[in-house]
Amino acid sequence: MSSKRPNPSKRFAHEEPDTLVYQIDDRLYVNLTDRCTLACTFCPKHNGCTEVKGHELYLSERPAADTIIELIGDPTRYTEIVFCGFGEPTLRLKDLLTVAKAVKAQGGNTRINTDGLANRVHKRDVTGEMAECIDALSISLNAQDETTYNKHCEPSLKGSHTEVLKFIEAAAKVIPDVSATAIDGLEGVDVAQCAALAEERGAKFRARYLDVVG
Ligand code: SF4
Repeated sequence: MSSKRPNPSKRFAHEEPDTLVYQIDDRLYVNLTDRCTLACTFCPKHNGCTEVKGHELYLSERPAADTIIELIGDPTRYTEIVFCGFGEPTLRLKDLLTVAKAVKAQGGNTRINTDGLANRVHKRDVTGEMAECIDALSISLNAQDETTYNKHCEPSLKGSHTEVLKFIEAAAKVIPDVSATAIDGLEGVDVAQCAALAEERGAKFRARYLDVVG
C-alpha cells in the first residue's frame, strides 16, 4: 500500500509513472521519498530539476516496501542496492530497513546515501538497527562548521551539523564502511577540514563534485 500524504513536490507533477528504482552503472538506486529536513541550495529539486542522470525522480506517492522489494528482484545482479533518491531515505527508516533486510537475505549489498540526521529525526540512536542490514553509509557532512552548513543546507532542525558529526562517529563504530562527503568547490567549504572531522570520528572521507551522483 502506498502513502497518500500530500506530496510537497506537486509543482513538478507530470504524467509519467514514478521511477521507484533506477540503475546507474552497476548499482541500483531506490527512490523511497521526496522529503527532506534540509533544503540544500545545490540540490536539483530546489533548483527546479527533478532528473538525475536522465532518471525522472518526481514521486506522486511514496512506495511501499513490498513494491520496492519486488522491483529489485535478485539484488545480486547489482554491486549494491543504494537508498538514495529525491529525498532523505532515512525519513522512511522502517520501510528502508525492511527492504534492506530482504536484500541482505538474498545475498545483496546495501548502502544508504544519507544526510546523517536519522538519529535527530527519530530521537534515538538508529545506527545499531542499520548495522543489522546496511553494509555502507555515505553521509553528507557538507561543511566543516555550522555556519557554512546552515548557509548551504538550510536545515529545518536545530543543531543539525552537530548531529551529523555525532551520527558519523556512532555509525563508524558499528557499520563496516562509513564515508563522509563534502562538495569540493562549494563556497566556504574546506574539504580538508571536513576530511579531518570525518577521520577523527573513524570514518573515511570522499570529496564530491557538483552535479555528480554517487
Ligand atoms: S539532503 Fe539531498 S535531497 Fe535533501 S535537499 Fe539536500 S541535497 Fe537535496
